[in-house]
Amino acid sequence: MGIIRKTKSVEALLNEFNKSSSAISAKKLIQSLDSKFNKTTIYRVLDKLEDDGVLHSFLGKNGLKWYAKCNDCSSNKHRDLHPHFQCLDCGKVDCLAVSVSLPKIPNRKIEVSQLLIQGKCETCFA
Ligand SMILES: [Zn+2]
Ligand SMILES: [Zn+2]
Ligand SMILES: [Zn+2]
Repeated sequence: MGIIRKTKSVEALLNEFNKSSSAISAKKLIQSLDSKFNKTTIYRVLDKLEDDGVLHSFLGKNGLKWYAKCNDCSSNKHRDLHPHFQCLDCGKVDCLAVSVSLPKIPNRKIEVSQLLIQGKCETCFA
């Protein structure tokens, strides 16, 4: 984890992620924080937190950008090769703590893998 200045906007964003274990869409983050910070600030802080290995982003359904907390990432290396799951009923998205085996591709080094699995979450499946 890099050194992050604990500004009010950084704290407010981290707080959103500490409240839930699920991923949060950029749209939702802006909706919950735009009374306090402008959109540009929110995007800038998200970029910074991603650069610092605190959050990772990925694309969900309809190309929406989502953010989730990282585990063991550092400012120069993200290790988030896990798949993400999006519930088609309630829209919840979370990181899956499972590893998928990626194919070995000759002459290519894999750094980012975006696998979005869609279906029903534990609540909607019941
Ligand atoms: Zn990461
Ligand atoms: Zn659901
Ligand atoms: Zn994730």
